Amino acid sequence: MDNNSEMQVDTQKIRDLINQDKSMIKLMLKVCAHCSMCAESCFLYVHSPDDPKYIPSYKMLNSVGYLYKKKGNVTWEDLERIKEIVWDNCVLCTRCYCPLGVDIPRMISLARKICRSQGVYKEYNT
Ligand code: SF4
Ligand code: SF4
Repeated sequence: MDNNSEMQVDTQKIRDLINQDKSMIKLMLKVCAHCSMCAESCFLYVHSPDDPKYIPSYKMLNSVGYLYKKKGNVTWEDLERIKEIVWDNCVLCTRCYCPLGVDIPRMISLARKICRSQGVYKEYNT
């Protein structure tokens, strides 16, 4: 985003949003066994089975997981990368299934919310 490049990322705002759901995020990240059993339930992965970036857990770990690990201290480049993951690589259809109960759509949705809080989001041509 051109305007954003001259501004600072509001890391405090990101931390506040993370803290609002901290126990849920912590639990989801802890429960994920990195087994990739969720992969087959995502039609985007089924369509591109050689590309791990479509695996639901990959999307969670590299969006909310990253924001959580960095405690909100991220750059615009990080946010742009996360934007691609949570908008281009996920349509939030909520069909992904995790046998351990990890709520991937909820985590992706949270990542979108955090990106939006910084003015980073996907714009669609109508
Ligand atoms: S989200 Fe669930 S199914 Fe997917 S890798 Fe993590 S534990 Fe396995
Ligand atoms: S919500 Fe996203 S990750 Fe889950 S099945 Fe749909 S497109 Fe795939």
